[in-house]
Amino acid sequence: MLNVIIFGAPGSGKGTQSEKLIEEYGLDHISTGEVLREEIKNNTELGKIAAQYIEKGQLIPDDLIIDILSTILDTKGNSKGVIFDGFPRTISQAHALKKMLNERNEQINAVIALEVEDAELIGRLLNRGKVSGRSDDNLETIQKRLQVYHSQTAPLIEYYKEENLYNAIEGSGSIDEIFARIKAVIKNL
Ligand code: AMP
Repeated sequence: MLNVIIFGAPGSGKGTQSEKLIEEYGLDHISTGEVLREEIKNNTELGKIAAQYIEKGQLIPDDLIIDILSTILDTKGNSKGVIFDGFPRTISQAHALKKMLNERNEQINAVIALEVEDAELIGRLLNRGKVSGRSDDNLETIQKRLQVYHSQTAPLIEYYKEENLYNAIEGSGSIDEIFARIKAVIKNL
């Protein structure tokens, strides 16, 4: 299996590049953000809890998201590989993911990290907010999400460098240019 984490700040292009990866490599895709938004749309108990965090730009608690991820992972047994999009977002989620994959005789093959400056991220997210209808694509929540990224998620960069899995990708440019950079990394795995 080819298991990759698509990593980066909000607005770095994780969802867009995931679509290209699915098309090119036939991988499964787990986006924890999408899962949560679906729960909110269906007005489930989980959705009600998640909405409170998402609207404030905060992360939902680790134990909750780890349980969700584990349940979804159990449905991906026959897959060619999985793209983890938006997970892990904390060191404790990264440890949990490693353990979950080990238990399934699997591992992460690469972390593909899309690197984009904050100013560009804010511009992209504000633009997306005009069409996405997402409750968290407004300036105040975007700023909070970037703060959360820098304080809680960015420490994963060092973690995955130490695991020798980290691949930095210049995340500015056209969608196809960025995807070509990603393919070059995957080719060398
Ligand atoms: P995303 O679509 O990945 O930008 O996620 C949207 C929001 O969902 C985030 O701002 C968090 O509130 C929540 N979320 C998504 N994935 C996670 C995660 N792995 N851990 C905690 N919260 C998450």
